[in-house]
Amino acid sequence: MKRRKTRTIHLGGVPIGSGHRISVQSMTKTDTRDAVATINQVKHLEGMGCEIIRVAVPDLEAAEALKIIKKHIAIPLVADIHFNYRLALKAIENGADGLRINPGNIGSRANVEKVVKAAADVNAPIRIGVNSGSIEKEYKNAIKGEGKELVETTARAMARSALKHIGILEKLKFHQIKVSLKATDVQTTLLAHELLAKECDYPFHIGITEAGTLLTGAVKSAVGISMLLSKGYGDTVRVSLSAPPEREVMVAHSILRSLGLRERGPEIISCPTCGRCTIDVEEIATEVERRLSGSSAPVSIAVMGCVVNGPGEASRADYGVAGGRGKGVIFRHGKVVRKDVDESKIIDELISEIDELKEPH
Ligand code: SF4
Repeated sequence: MKRRKTRTIHLGGVPIGSGHRISVQSMTKTDTRDAVATINQVKHLEGMGCEIIRVAVPDLEAAEALKIIKKHIAIPLVADIHFNYRLALKAIENGADGLRINPGNIGSRANVEKVVKAAADVNAPIRIGVNSGSIEKEYKNAIKGEGKELVETTARAMARSALKHIGILEKLKFHQIKVSLKATDVQTTLLAHELLAKECDYPFHIGITEAGTLLTGAVKSAVGISMLLSKGYGDTVRVSLSAPPEREVMVAHSILRSLGLRERGPEIISCPTCGRCTIDVEEIATEVERRLSGSSAPVSIAVMGCVVNGPGEASRADYGVAGGRGKGVIFRHGKVVRKDVDESKIIDELISEIDELKEPH
């Protein structure tokens, strides 16, 4: 997939831009003031493949907690600030690697200058984030119409709002910027990116905001993020779900893997089952996926219900099982390695064949 050419910014040790792989990020759902709970969540997400973490910083206590949190996590931390420049300064002082803050929303020019100087001194990027639901009044007033017109006026308002904030930072010679433009619908999000891409070369943080619960949100995110990526937009991805943040990371990696852009983690290939099915494909595939959910091994594993299509798919994947009268045939790199495996033992025996999961000697 051809990517829109952007400049590169660095968030801690993670480069973001078209010359680098698309990173996966998430946001903690703990109370940031509870440093222990936040650290535990971040560590768990790190293990799942989260490469950048954002935390809400609603007050001074949360900004202070960053000092402890930063000491215990390995991935870069972005402090999510709204309106209060003092919290931004405190977050930087306590080790935040980046800020999510809109400079047009933090008051006087003096406030903005203080924040920009603090960020520049430690090379911390600033993400400008425009959400369709919270555009400033001056741009919101221009949003009108229905259908196509509403999509166009909203997307234009979003791009203009982003350009206003970008302009404020550029006037202060600050260019460590990334931008997110998030609407709750895919068409508006896509058009807003098209409009802004003509005006700047800053990397894009992409996602569909407030996408929904696990199933519907994952589908909407997959559609929206894939459309953006197919147009070349997107340098770091966050899937937003009303679900545990681990799910956001899993879905993001799954989208990137499906598009051939990243390879992290197992890919489960399983048949939809039909009247020929002779093993419980859903249970086996779900359990295999669950057991491998923390693994970064880029392996494909097929779970197929019968001998009609099963052996073909199972032998094409790195590892696989094909059912047959309550038993299973296990494949490993195209070859049958175990036959007549009792259904109750299929999961254990299939997993025991996966080299990539074995402890290094
Ligand atoms: S692999 Fe067999 S059980 Fe599964 S859908 Fe195909 S024919 Fe049906």
